[in-house]
Amino acid sequence: MTRVIEPQPGILDIALYQGGASHVPGVENVIKLSSNENPFGAPESAKAAFAKAAHNLHRYPNTDHYALRKAIADVHGLDPDCVICGVGSDEIITFLCQAYAGVGDEVIYTEHGFGMYKISAKAAGATPVCVPERERVVDVDAILAACTERTKLVFIANPANPTGTMIGQRDIARLAAGLPGQAILVLDGAYAEFVEGFDGGSALVEARDNVVMTRTFSKIYGLGGVRVGWGYGPREIIDVLNRVRGPFNLSEPQLAAAEAAVRDRDWVEKCREDNTRLRAWLAEALMELGVPSDTSCANFILARFTDQEEAEACDEFLKANGIIVRRVGGYGLPNCLRITVGDEASCRRVVHVIGQFMEQKR
Ligand code: PMP
Repeated sequence: MTRVIEPQPGILDIALYQGGASHVPGVENVIKLSSNENPFGAPESAKAAFAKAAHNLHRYPNTDHYALRKAIADVHGLDPDCVICGVGSDEIITFLCQAYAGVGDEVIYTEHGFGMYKISAKAAGATPVCVPERERVVDVDAILAACTERTKLVFIANPANPTGTMIGQRDIARLAAGLPGQAILVLDGAYAEFVEGFDGGSALVEARDNVVMTRTFSKIYGLGGVRVGWGYGPREIIDVLNRVRGPFNLSEPQLAAAEAAVRDRDWVEKCREDNTRLRAWLAEALMELGVPSDTSCANFILARFTDQEEAEACDEFLKANGIIVRRVGGYGLPNCLRITVGDEASCRRVVHVIGQFMEQKR
């Protein structure tokens, strides 16, 4: 008989993260538009730096990440001592929950919020509290109304995933100012680079003592496979997070690739421009087919169908035609599909296939 060793309370309630599949059985050359990856791949500068750093593999990596923190700080005009680097921004989210939320504490996330907030809160023993959104937009008043003396962390992504919507700086500042004294506002800026001129919330971090911003190299920088993210916050909070960070959480190739990518501003600019142009084209072409979406500020759009049945049928049809998009029923959006903005050929192909789907339905 196998012995069942019980994990901590709450762990078995965590649903396994539903990542996007990357292949379709029997279909070659799939078009993957399910994980908001950069359709142009990683910049050459980062690939070269990664390869160059892949030596002395028997040595432990640098532990203070100074060169990467300095590069991030230079580019964004920040204080490198207030930057922390992790294995994707997922790890920064984990550090925040480990360090600030335990049994009896509450962690707020919103109705269509990114899945890791709930997973990390539960893994830390805390209670995730889901707050409704208003028409797929984060509702600051609803969050403030949900805060209690147990609220320790409030997570919002701006732009948000999977909705692609954003809330304004004034609302964010009002949220930060209205939180109870023991709570930290976490501004997840995984998609911030897609919004021209947007600082992701770093000015608010500097203006207050209760705001942390998280960022990633997985999206515009095209380094999803390398796994690097970072956080920016008040010195005291970053110091706390560094205490739970494993000393060798990032390898030299990871650090080098991210450093090269963040300094490659031409690449970022080109990717942002292409994304803005192709996103507008994609949204409009789908609208013409009778599939609306909210205005997206990120590198995906949330296509809305009549109901769950239609969304799922379209997903199956796309898959049969070699295109993988993301179902978002698990995010409370069963009648929607999230479609990453691909390169021009992928955008044209996905519109063509959805057009065929809508046609055969008639
Ligand atoms: N936040 C949001 C809103 C995301 O969409 C993602 C990735 N899908 C992440 C954080 C985590 O990204 P990573 O761990 O790759 O940095």
